[in-house]
This record gives sequence, C-alpha cells and structure tokens, in this order.
Amino acid sequence: MKRQSETSQDGIEPRKYALEDTFCFACDKGKSCYTHCCSDINIILTPYDIIRMKNRLGLTCDQFLAIYTKPEMLVRTKLPMVTLKMLDDDKKSCPFITPDGCAIYEDRPVSCRYYPLGMAAFREQELKPSGEDFYFMVRESHCKGFESNRQWTVATWRKDQGVEPYDDVNQSWMELILKKKSFGFQYELTEQSRGMFFMVSSNVDRLKRFVLESSFLDKYDVDPKRLETIKKDEVALLKFGLDWLQSALFGAEKVVLKEKVKKAYQEKADQQGAAAQKASESSPGR
Ligand code: SF4
Ligand code: SF4
Repeated sequence: MKRQSETSQDGIEPRKYALEDTFCFACDKGKSCYTHCCSDINIILTPYDIIRMKNRLGLTCDQFLAIYTKPEMLVRTKLPMVTLKMLDDDKKSCPFITPDGCAIYEDRPVSCRYYPLGMAAFREQELKPSGEDFYFMVRESHCKGFESNRQWTVATWRKDQGVEPYDDVNQSWMELILKKKSFGFQYELTEQSRGMFFMVSSNVDRLKRFVLESSFLDKYDVDPKRLETIKKDEVALLKFGLDWLQSALFGAEKVVLKEKVKKAYQEKADQQGAAAQKASESSPGR
C-alpha cells in the first residue's frame, strides 16, 4: 500500500527483500500510532481480496465494486484494477477503520496483511523488466512498529499475517501482471483483452455468467469435473478464469479451444489470408 498524499518514493527502502531476509517489527493496540496507517492510502485489491471482502459484507461483486472501490490503471502495465475507496473525510480514512481497529480484520486485503512489506508486482518504479518477484519495505515515519526488536523473516511474517492462502489464489494473477510488465510496451493489450482482465480480476459474478451462460462452453474444452467444481466454488472459478486469461493473453495452453472451433478459426484465417494475397496481386503496382 502507498500513502496517496506521499511523493512516490517516501518511506520505501531502496533494497529488495527475499523470503529469508530479516526485519524487526511489532504492531499492537497499545501503540500511539494505532490505526494511523489506515487512512490516505492506495490499496490495490486483488481478485481474492474482493471475493473475501464482498462475502464478508454480504454483497454481490457489483454492489461491492460500486460502494467500496474506484477503478485505476497501473501506469506501467496499463492493466485495469480497482483500489479501495477512502472516505471523503479530513483524514481520507479507510471505510473499515474503527477505534478498535479493522472491522473486517479476518478478511482484510492482502496489502494490509503484508504491511510494512509490499509486493514488487505492484511497484511501478525501479522494476527490471525480468518478471522477477520480490518484496520491499515501507518505513513510514509515524509507524512505531519499527521500534520493536521482535525479529521476523519475510517468510515468517507472511505466515503470521495469513498471507499464504491469498498468495496461493492470487499467484496466477500476479504472474499475469509480471508477464505484462516484462513484455513492457512491446505488447499492448486490446480494449477487449483489458476488459477480460478486468472482469476476471474484479468480478467473479460476471465471470460466472460469462463462463456458464454465454457461448464459452461451446468454444472451450473444459474438463467435466472442473466444470462441476467451478459451478459451486467461486475460488475454483477464479482460478479457472486466470488459467483462461493466461491462455488467451499469453498463449499458455491451460484452457484450450475445442478442436472443431480451432479448425473453423484456422479455415477462416486461411480464407482471409488468401483473399488478402489475391487483392495484393490484382492491385496495380507503383
Ligand atoms: S505500528 Fe505501524 S502498522 Fe501498527 S498501527 Fe502503528 S502505524 Fe500502523
Ligand atoms: S482494510 Fe482494515 S487493515 Fe486495511 S486499511 Fe482498512 S482498516 Fe486498515
């Protein structure tokens, strides 16, 4: 997470952290800075964050997105995402903050769990175009957590904060972001591809309708057992949607077209190629 009013580099240590790297930190209600970190922040919501939060609040995806989020485009990748919308008060507080802490603590977003660490995939600056994953440390001056001598590694912090199930579900999504980053500007997504990415990333209800109620299943070969699972389990549906994105955007063979559809597309492409060739042969030379 990043403070909205900060300059882009404030508080971010100029070094990369790996899983075994150590740091000292402790956060508890007794600290004078308690909840100070929960206002004026830019929290990108991952697909699994949205599932956990909208279920916690008993909302549909459309309702959750309309009430609690605002759309954003990652500058470097031009991928559309949503961020948590802060309240319109003096502090720009998070809508879930209370004097006793986070009202949705058990389902808080993964960025809040990682803090004071951050994930490289969301950093816009200083990223080598290699798709490499790493963590970084946000040292904000108001945060008393660094005064503690309680030592963690990145790995033990992730475990303590319950990050692992989030990263497990989001892994394929993070890979898509890192892949897009490593391709850089040489690989521009079409408007339609960006729309597909946004649907899978933020709206599992729409994804469900798209997979089950459009012509999707006429086109794609989906294992019957997997189909039964994704009808009942929205996390399985999200993972399926991410596999489909990996295939449709980056050529991974995770969700493939049916043979007859592939053949029909190939024939159409051949016909178009032949027509273009004929047109160029019959056009007058310069
Ligand atoms: S110690 Fe840091 S993380 Fe904990 S409440 Fe204070 S500012 Fe927030
Ligand atoms: S979701 Fe919870 S932990 Fe995250 S910023 Fe809001 S109140 Fe703080």
